[in-house]
Amino acid sequence: MHLASYSVQLQDKKVKCTLCPHLCVLAEGKQGICRVRKNEGGMLVTEIYGKACCLRFDPIEKKPLYHFYPGSVILSVGSVGCNLRCKFCQNWEISQTCAEDYPYIKPVTAEEIIKMARERQDNVGIAYTYNEPIVWFEFMLDIAKNSKDAGMKNVMVSNGYVNATPLAELIEYMDAFNIDLKAFTDDFYKRVTSARLQPVKDTILMIRKHNRHLELTHLVVTGLNDQEDQFEEMVKWIGGELGPETPLHLSRYFPNFEMENKATPLTKLLQLYELATHYLHHVYLGNVAADEGRITTCPECGANLIERIGYSTYKKGLDASGKCRKCGRIVISNI
Ligand code: SF4
Repeated sequence: MHLASYSVQLQDKKVKCTLCPHLCVLAEGKQGICRVRKNEGGMLVTEIYGKACCLRFDPIEKKPLYHFYPGSVILSVGSVGCNLRCKFCQNWEISQTCAEDYPYIKPVTAEEIIKMARERQDNVGIAYTYNEPIVWFEFMLDIAKNSKDAGMKNVMVSNGYVNATPLAELIEYMDAFNIDLKAFTDDFYKRVTSARLQPVKDTILMIRKHNRHLELTHLVVTGLNDQEDQFEEMVKWIGGELGPETPLHLSRYFPNFEMENKATPLTKLLQLYELATHYLHHVYLGNVAADEGRITTCPECGANLIERIGYSTYKKGLDASGKCRKCGRIVISNI
């Protein structure tokens, strides 16, 4: 067992976890909401340090990150557990379980992961993804710290539900984030994810303040977060607080886990896409075959810079430094 960070010991061998805003107080032998941090003999431990269930090279576009080394691959690592319980979770087999109940979880060291990442020439770094990486904070941080020395970029794909102090520690070693902004009302977060909106907004603002590469994902769920007025409020906030250059990925929902609402109609997705483009320069569509939302254009002159077919990327309109070939505007800083 590996001792967990961010814990406070209480009376009667209880322990409080301060990693995420749930602030679970655990009696001896109990797990937190995330199912992977546990009170053992009055100490908080992580049950998934040095364990992974997914380890493979993915196109970076799959994270999704469209403006961070476009066209590269990234070694993607995942484990089990999550501090949210989204009723529509697309990865519930790994997110809503614990280490002892999941047969495919395997021991692996940070050194082995870094060695694997270095072996492939076109690999840009390591992505912490698939399940929520916040809940394996200690292992992620150790991999990120050690891989920095090997020249690796570190990418976190997260729900953003983390407290400010551990986030500050992570930001130091992370190069890029994709944060899932699931809705723009606290009511949605409470009813559908068992969490709250404000901590996620705080995370996003802190990442922006520290000038790390940031992209956002928003899953449009039929009947739950597809109202235009709420959506418009969200994209206005993104444009105003984070800047219109912030890439936003609108993803199509399909029924999964505990949610049976119908798949997002393509017309609805296109309608919201159109609305978002009034506030943001780079809006993309995911989980869908459509002509819209797969091309990066220059906000200055409108030229097509990057075209995508599936996960293949064609950077015809960009020069080697990420500038638009037509007007010279810098569009992609990390290329
Ligand atoms: S990380 Fe897990 S144990 Fe810690 S507060 Fe969050 S849900 Fe609870």
